[in-house]
Amino acid sequence: MDDCIFCKIVDGDIPSRTVYEDDDVFAFLDVNPLADGHTLVIPKDHHETIEDMPADVAKELFAAVHELVPAVEDAVDADGSTVAFNNGEAAGQEVPHVHCHIVPRFDGDGNGPIHALFGGPGEMDDDELDAIAERISER
Ligand code: 5GP
Ligand code: ZN
Repeated sequence: MDDCIFCKIVDGDIPSRTVYEDDDVFAFLDVNPLADGHTLVIPKDHHETIEDMPADVAKELFAAVHELVPAVEDAVDADGSTVAFNNGEAAGQEVPHVHCHIVPRFDGDGNGPIHALFGGPGEMDDDELDAIAERISER
């Protein structure tokens, strides 16, 4: 897509610190890292969200994430990583080209789990949980 920053990075029109590339997937360091080694993994083709990606692209993307997580962690001597997608504007996605964040984590870094985003667990009774599970599985 012409006005997409990440398409321009894939095409080499905007420079990036590239760490991985294959036929379908491209990975590079985030320009404003949340931690040393913060890496973005993207499909080369423009798709806005996870649900917009064809299944074969999603498989290739996850295969690259699977390879990159240990490489990134090892490179910065991390103790773990937070691996996440901001999927859609409501979730805070700013660049509308699907990307997986690999953010290295360090013992005692104090940044908390993904659960910290939501201010604690929600309350829901069994009937509501059953109804939601059914709606998801039907689809
Ligand atoms: P989002 O909020 O969409 O999930 O994350 C977008 C990420 O892309 C941000 O972490 C931001 O720092 C990163 N980013 C935005 N523009 C550029 C760029 O031109 N180059 C690189 N390397 N990263 C970028
Ligand atoms: Zn794009």
